[in-house]
Amino acid sequence: MFVKQLPKFINSLDYARSMDLNDPLKEYRNKFHIPQKENKDLIYFCGNSLGLQPKSVRNFIEQELKDWETLGVEGHLHAKNPWLYYHHLLEEQTARLVGAKPIEVVVMNSLTVNLNLLMISFYRPTKTRYKIMMEYMAFPSDQYAVENQIKFHGYDPHKTIIELMPREGEYAIRTEDILQKIEEHKSELALIMIGGVNYYTGQLFEMEKITGHAKKSSAEIVVGFDLAHAAGNVELNLHDWNIDFATWCTYKYLNSGPGGTSGVFIHEKHCNDNSLPRLSGWWGNEEETRFKMQKGFFPQTGAAGWQMSNAQILPMAAHRASLEIFDEAGMKKLNEKSFLLTGYLQYLLLNGKRKDFKIITPSDTAHRGCQLSIVMNNSGKKTFDALTENGIIADWREPNVIRVAPVPLYNSFEDVWRFAEIFHSV
Ligand SMILES: *Cc1c(COP(=O)(O)O)cnc(C)c1O
Repeated sequence: MFVKQLPKFINSLDYARSMDLNDPLKEYRNKFHIPQKENKDLIYFCGNSLGLQPKSVRNFIEQELKDWETLGVEGHLHAKNPWLYYHHLLEEQTARLVGAKPIEVVVMNSLTVNLNLLMISFYRPTKTRYKIMMEYMAFPSDQYAVENQIKFHGYDPHKTIIELMPREGEYAIRTEDILQKIEEHKSELALIMIGGVNYYTGQLFEMEKITGHAKKSSAEIVVGFDLAHAAGNVELNLHDWNIDFATWCTYKYLNSGPGGTSGVFIHEKHCNDNSLPRLSGWWGNEEETRFKMQKGFFPQTGAAGWQMSNAQILPMAAHRASLEIFDEAGMKKLNEKSFLLTGYLQYLLLNGKRKDFKIITPSDTAHRGCQLSIVMNNSGKKTFDALTENGIIADWREPNVIRVAPVPLYNSFEDVWRFAEIFHSV
């Protein structure tokens, strides 16, 4: 993680425009459809919820529609990208995106499904070691999945989940407090399962430090991350960080369309371990014997051995369009722009007329991605509605939080400047 000083920003439209002119990624905005109102681009700050559509998606999907149209079932072998092996087309780029080896990743299913599949393999409680540590205010879907996995094993969620809390009056959870808590529970912890970036506060957890500490405390603690808000947002090095498993959705920062597919990471040290329990289906079986229709499951090597059903070609085609863009831009460059863009947003928010709010996302740039969560003291919903009327798409969370995410691929410094202008004047 790079730690740099933010530059001395200036609050003016000219300055914002000059930042855009000097932006090495400025051309990328043209690769996306920007939603409009009355023929004017909206200011879209919801890439953390549903990323915008890459213009190239249409071609990727057209290709598969065409092959289906002209080949029918023969497309499995004779499509331009034969469907039988389609998931392999996503491995290299996915691996680069999250800092993994190709063997450690697979694209399949959707996020909560994968979270459950991975917990089947990696949450294996015993009488003495059965607790799961997760963050306070984890995404509801993750909470439901964890609670029910616990019940599935016959334990009581209330006595099994250890929640990491922020200190009184704070919003982010301090790393030192997390490490302390791991220390306290090291003999009973089976699994640590945290969202890499919290969807609500925008806090980026120190995944490497947390994992390192857990592994040092006990080799038996398994560490997994839900990277829904981290993949495509921050630089990841899942392999080197020694994370056991991770999964993410592809429709947020990864712009792969509503309900899009999901990515999975299983560390090299586990992904060929056939002794791990897993739910299985034909697509995870060795490719050579998949169609022999024999009894006995022989998982193929790597994370691909966790597949169950045959690949969902259309969502995966959409995802390939986006992966191509990410691969070309590179997470490093995206992060450098993100650092400036979100830094500029923070600067403009804190140096304007309006003072009736608080940013709860860490101000330390090492502890956040591109989202800022703003708690409004009062009239929050009114402000949010006024923003919407003025052409801004942001996200409202009851009771009083506005989440804004300027994303480096298609948001501009001018977007950020205009947002702040409107925010301070409504
Ligand atoms: C968006 C999100 C989900 C959504 O799960 P789906 O299975 O894709 O519907 C789950 N967990 C987290 C942390 C999220 O941010």
